[in-house]
Amino acid sequence: MLKHHVPLAPLTWFQVGGTANTFLKAETTEELVYFLKQYKKQDYFVLGAGSNVLISDAGTSRPVIKLHLHNFDITHESIIVDGGMLDRTLSLEMAQLGLSGFEFLSTIPGTVGGGIFMNAGAYGHEISDHLQWIEYVNRDGDIQRLRQDQIKFSYRTSSLPRDFVIIKAAFEKRPLSKNLVFEKMADYQKKREESQPVRVKTGGSTFKNPPYHKAWELIDQSGCRGMMCGGAKVSEKHCNFLINTGHATADDLKTLGTIVQEKVLKTTGVLLEWEIICI
Ligand SMILES: Cc1cc2nc3c(=O)[nH]c(=O)nc-3n(C[C@H](O)[C@H](O)[C@H](O)COP(=O)(O)OP(=O)(O)OC[C@H]3O[C@@H](n4cnc5c(N)ncnc54)[C@H](O)[C@@H]3O)c2cc1C
Repeated sequence: MLKHHVPLAPLTWFQVGGTANTFLKAETTEELVYFLKQYKKQDYFVLGAGSNVLISDAGTSRPVIKLHLHNFDITHESIIVDGGMLDRTLSLEMAQLGLSGFEFLSTIPGTVGGGIFMNAGAYGHEISDHLQWIEYVNRDGDIQRLRQDQIKFSYRTSSLPRDFVIIKAAFEKRPLSKNLVFEKMADYQKKREESQPVRVKTGGSTFKNPPYHKAWELIDQSGCRGMMCGGAKVSEKHCNFLINTGHATADDLKTLGTIVQEKVLKTTGVLLEWEIICI
């Protein structure tokens, strides 16, 4: 379904940002393919669960695509899921089947497509670990497939071009006792609640951990814990998280992030790289 002037704030975890002039809610692959053939000359943006993006207050003139494709299929060799499925749903479905390797995903609030693009990870695991292949639609509207070994994955990034729309992914099946899988999930959830702010408007980790450092430690050393700019705040609980305390604008959040970056550079000599994608 194609819409115009769609507010994006409710579709992101920060709950800030303006509107999209053009917005496709893709309910079928055919609809997505048709749209891409029409709009291929434009620089479009694929929005997942909006858990790693900061959309500017002015919104975007780029067409925004959001997948409403959430199917889950089991074959002899694989679990095949749609790119729009939530990581948490995938993790729960796997747990119900007594399949391991996806427990950490129950704590990541993104979609499978966003997770693969970002190579989402936690507690020593990454989404690419058990990936077999992805299916994507390119700018010309062609559906193509890439095996895991044809994609380069590293810390919070992949070599996938920004204009590929990931529509499906296949994962290996690794059987384990259901109880153990659910125990691991509960353990990760507990760890998360102890160390990070939960049930708040945030984008998760703001900056990537630089080699040999933890971003939160550098931010803490630089005296930024609890710092505020308008309605944006550096979390007291985990200072690599920026929080919208209720009335922040995207500008508040971006400005606060930039101040943190500058303070860290001045204090420690390390330039933090944004993990959050700013649009
Ligand atoms: C509370 C909280 C905790 C978090 N914890 C973690 C964590 O532990 N580990 C971690 O890695 N991340 C974490 N994150 C960040 C975020 O959840 C992940 O990066 C997640 O994988 C992003 O998925 P998304 O669907 O929300 O993508 P979005 O934020 O919507 O988009 C992120 C990027 O992915 C691209 N994208 C989205 N969907 C597709 C698709 N179908 N095809 C192609 N590209 C696509 C977008 O264009 C964009 O470039 C956390 C975020 C929050 C809010």
